Amino acid sequence: MARGQKVLKAFMVSLGCAKNLVDSERLLGCLTGLGLVVTDDPKAADLLMVNTCAFIEPAVKESIETILELSQGKKKGAKLAVVGCLPSRDLAALVSDLPEADLLATRADYPRLPQLLANLMNLKAKPLGPFETWSRQLSTPPWRAYLKVAEGCDHRCAYCLIPSLRGPLATRSLAELTREAAELVAGGVVELTLVAQDLTAWCHDGQDLGDLVSALAAINGLKWARLMYAYPERLTEKLVRRLAQIPRVPPYLDLPIQHASPRILKRMGRPASDPLALVKRLREWWPGVALRTTLMVGFPGEDESDFEKMVALVEEARFDHLGVFAFEPEEPAPAARFPHQVPRMVAKKRRIELLKRQRKISLANNRARVEAEYDVLVEGPAEDSPLIMTGRAYFQAPEVDGLIYFDGVQPLGGQVVRAKVTRAQAYDLAAGLVDESARVGRE
Ligand code: SF4
Repeated sequence: MARGQKVLKAFMVSLGCAKNLVDSERLLGCLTGLGLVVTDDPKAADLLMVNTCAFIEPAVKESIETILELSQGKKKGAKLAVVGCLPSRDLAALVSDLPEADLLATRADYPRLPQLLANLMNLKAKPLGPFETWSRQLSTPPWRAYLKVAEGCDHRCAYCLIPSLRGPLATRSLAELTREAAELVAGGVVELTLVAQDLTAWCHDGQDLGDLVSALAAINGLKWARLMYAYPERLTEKLVRRLAQIPRVPPYLDLPIQHASPRILKRMGRPASDPLALVKRLREWWPGVALRTTLMVGFPGEDESDFEKMVALVEEARFDHLGVFAFEPEEPAPAARFPHQVPRMVAKKRRIELLKRQRKISLANNRARVEAEYDVLVEGPAEDSPLIMTGRAYFQAPEVDGLIYFDGVQPLGGQVVRAKVTRAQAYDLAAGLVDESARVGRE
């Protein structure tokens, strides 16, 4: 920077899921590449950027509220850029309804975003290459990161806007992904969480997910390569047995099952196979695997007997972790216009009922872990109690599952320690260090 030149500051808000967080980290990399300095104080920022989420109405609402709040509090002359799924969902409406935004960029605009931002801030743009290769500024703790292996989705679930917002499936090559993963591990990351809209759809140049995970897991210094968002139908015996054999792949799978009624699954546009049979097969192919799933209640046409099938699935499958969502009619997704829409109150009640049942199951699952020992990656201080450190074992994915709270001697963030579970609650556990002087450390 030339002497006397003013340092411009940027503030970023990332909304939505882990996949959007990776995009936000690349966007931060773009901002710093343009010479802006990232600040955590929105009032000090010359550029405020919101990477929006818009796949359901509550996410749209949160995005708009965030934009308006930032706009009202920004300093005089500061610019506001709104990027990501909200402009991609309905750019024309935003142009007229959101005069607060100085720049609106859809995901299709990302290749020229450095130039658009440079124009907005009177800076000199530098070419950054394809979006997926922009350098990332991690917003997770330095010992863990997400690795987005693909963008978009080729499925057409009747309730989902993601294919229209993010386009068809586009996978990144094994070479590109191993290079990015090796850089992250060299920078101190010990846990990589692989994400995509449909992780199990990953294939590239004749290589499949098993090849990719094998290559990633071979990176020295990595503790865990964790798999999220596996499309149930694609979890074949061959793939699952192979994953189970790969060292550094924790026995953990997240598979969004969505429903238990074949009739509703068919209406959703998803394979109408028996989800309980799949759960049983997964546990046979990968002994000890921890399972997370998501279910959607209140899909149009769902009646009491369909809901009872979900209850039976939850009771019998005894998932380690369960997320339950109520259907939201999202135009232009086809299900928004399906007949027999379920009243919101009914969907809400069904959601509460499933969560109530899962709570008991989670508590029983966690109680069965008392006295057991696990390797635990120390996450950092508890949100509500900074003197107590928290961590996660193989059966707890970052952000979405429970935590382990440490008793007694407190380990340091980023360490991998051996800990023995002392107490269990429905979602969290307490544990003490097995050897207070020992550290399992990096492999
Ligand atoms: S698989 Fe997931 S991302 Fe793809 S259309 Fe279905 S719900 Fe949407």
